[in-house]
Amino acid sequence: MAPKRIDALRVSRPNGFKLDDYDTADTLGWHKDGALAELEHVKLKLDALQQRLAAERRSSVLLVLQAMDAAGKDGTIRSILSGLNPAGVMVTSFKVPAGIEADHDYLWRTHQACPVAGDIGVFNRSHYEDVLVVRVKGLVPRSTWSKRFRHINEFERLLHDEGTRVVKCFLNVSKSEQARRLQDRLDDPTKGWKFREGDLADRKLWPKFRRAYEDAIGQTSTAHAPWYVVPADHNWVRNLAVAKILLSTLQDIGPQFPPADPHVINTKIV
Ligand code: AMP
Ligand code: MG
Repeated sequence: MAPKRIDALRVSRPNGFKLDDYDTADTLGWHKDGALAELEHVKLKLDALQQRLAAERRSSVLLVLQAMDAAGKDGTIRSILSGLNPAGVMVTSFKVPAGIEADHDYLWRTHQACPVAGDIGVFNRSHYEDVLVVRVKGLVPRSTWSKRFRHINEFERLLHDEGTRVVKCFLNVSKSEQARRLQDRLDDPTKGWKFREGDLADRKLWPKFRRAYEDAIGQTSTAHAPWYVVPADHNWVRNLAVAKILLSTLQDIGPQFPPADPHVINTKIV
């Protein structure tokens, strides 16, 4: 099978978007050894482009990661960003809003965490929690969350217009693979800390979460802030796919090293 292009994962026809149309165990025509080697290659390219992005200081990238528990948001971040200059990357993990966050509208904390020009920002969970967990658990009424798709599209449009490229990945893990990973967290003493009792309650709500994800992705995959559905049952597929999505976003921006100040060109340092 010829390898699939990363574009195939992009949600381009949001109407009637169904997660069942996406295979969680898809290998995209890749083979593990080749994919691991390619990931290293992609990371070198990411590093080179990040240097230009930081030097140019005109644009930024916001990579949003959303997923059910144990799909590998943390693992993806570790795997694909480890070769980059930490000074230009900011990862924000969003938890249940507390204190001053909870006293503001739901976009306040996300806007604060958006990357400055030249940076790559990564959201581990995001403003999408406010149309996902908040909806599924009935934390606000439908009349409140249903208006948020429009806010989110307009917010992401604002970011885009002001120089932030927004790209969103849903790490698509199967229910059976999630069971295996949650069990592993319970059985492995080095992973127990990742397990919350609430993970079991959330797992029971699997169909409701899927439905909420389908609505959210369908309603907010736009030309200026597209969603990608990334097969996440195999970590090596997931990591390479997200790395390639980030790479194509940076290539699209095409950042350049700015020219040196004309006043200093030809200066001889003595
Ligand atoms: P974790 O990512 O495993 O550290 O868990 C963070 C928890 O915070 C998850 O259960 C999320 O659903 C929850 N969370 C994140 N953002 C929100 C939000 N806006 N409202 C309610 N719960 C949230
Ligand atoms: Mg968790």
